[in-house]
Amino acid sequence: MTRSERTVDVLIVGAGPAGLAAGAELAAAGAGRIEILEREQEAGGIPRHCHHGGFGGRFTWGGADGPAYARQSVAAAVRAGAGLRTGVTVTGWAGPRTVETTGPGGLERITAGAVVLATGARERPRSARLVPGSRPPGVHTTGELQQAVHLYGQRIGTRAVVIGDEPVAYAAVDTLRAAGVHVVAVVTDRPAAPLRVRQRTPLLTGATVTGLTGRTRLSGVSLRHDDGRTTTLRCDTVVFSGDFVPDHELARRGGIILDPGTRGPAYDAAYRTSRPGVFAVGNLLHAVERAGVAADEGRAVAVSVLHRLSGTDEPPGGGRPLVVDAPLRWVAPNLTGPGGARPLKDRFVLRTARRLSGPLLVVSQDGRELHRQRLLLPAVPGRPFHLAAGWLDRVDPHGSPVRITAL
Ligand SMILES: Cc1cc2nc3c(=O)[nH]c(=O)nc-3n(C[C@H](O)[C@H](O)[C@H](O)COP(=O)(O)OP(=O)(O)OC[C@H]3O[C@@H](n4cnc5c(N)ncnc54)[C@H](O)[C@@H]3O)c2cc1C
Repeated sequence: MTRSERTVDVLIVGAGPAGLAAGAELAAAGAGRIEILEREQEAGGIPRHCHHGGFGGRFTWGGADGPAYARQSVAAAVRAGAGLRTGVTVTGWAGPRTVETTGPGGLERITAGAVVLATGARERPRSARLVPGSRPPGVHTTGELQQAVHLYGQRIGTRAVVIGDEPVAYAAVDTLRAAGVHVVAVVTDRPAAPLRVRQRTPLLTGATVTGLTGRTRLSGVSLRHDDGRTTTLRCDTVVFSGDFVPDHELARRGGIILDPGTRGPAYDAAYRTSRPGVFAVGNLLHAVERAGVAADEGRAVAVSVLHRLSGTDEPPGGGRPLVVDAPLRWVAPNLTGPGGARPLKDRFVLRTARRLSGPLLVVSQDGRELHRQRLLLPAVPGRPFHLAAGWLDRVDPHGSPVRITAL
């Protein structure tokens, strides 16, 4: 089948908060023809199916609800002059900045002066978590659950178990309750949950899922507790929550280097990936942050894209990788540079695999200490914490990777 060919100035893949903010900012800056492609029939990304408040404000409470926030973000991009096409999936690459798409109008090949990847992140489904047992209906991720309830008005079940203790677990609990489902328990394999326990929701800590039972419908979730006991929770619905992974398939297909920690594209403070002219923003880079952070990154990438389009960007390469020692899991951005560029809000975002009480973060390169910083609050799995970026000008651009350690 033949593909039609077109050229645009900037192509943005993904119309969530990050891609829409990038499109709005670039269109307002007069960057030429901006096109945002979204595989769903409706633009807005994850907030479209999050029917709770907390979007766009500084805190988890207040702010718009998800669908309202999504509508505002779409309206801002369109008002600024960005072209937005939905139902169009970017399926691969045909050149360094040429993508292949499929949509209602057929197959296309679009070449851009700059490409911004804003494909977001998804929760790891049951299959990727290697949970044994039968494969009955009634098994969801939070995202699938919210879409079923809020977008398609589907019936869910009567008794549910939620797996995971990241904040999104409680979005799952709220969605289940809104759908009239009794929540039997929230289950985490960690010895103590970092989250507050919601009233009426038993929290089982130190419990690992060992299997699912049921044939025509889920009938139970089997657990092994840290003390060796085994139990089965009777339920017809289970929600695997959190454990987000960047939606990096397109980046990977393009041979773009991924960071081993985040599993999103390796990137610097200008949102540049390893491929010149291809940028990345939002939860594709760090699964996951709040929608406001994704949108801030979308706005911030515009400056770098404009430099690229006008030929005033710094040459690629030259950044030193940032690496973390266990139990730290990742740092973002994960490359220094370009030049004296500093990350958003002048700080790096980090994650840990286990709880650390007031850790001392030490930054070093080739045995030379560049910075040390004591965190006042505990660092908790599944939650971001931050490292100031004031030490960046002490990095040797010819030295080894910069190492971040928690003591
Ligand atoms: C259950 C839940 C509750 C949340 N609650 C809050 C909250 O209360 N407050 C808050 O601030 N944040 C909240 N968040 C986080 C927030 O939703 C995300 O930070 C935000 O959506 C990230 O924006 P993004 O643009 O990076 O990605 P996304 O919103 O995931 O958007 C990515 C878009 O890219 C599209 N896409 C992917 N691949 C392709 C492709 N190949 N071709 C075309 N299109 C593609 C996807 O369809 C999607 O629309 C919540 C998240 C979840 C899952």
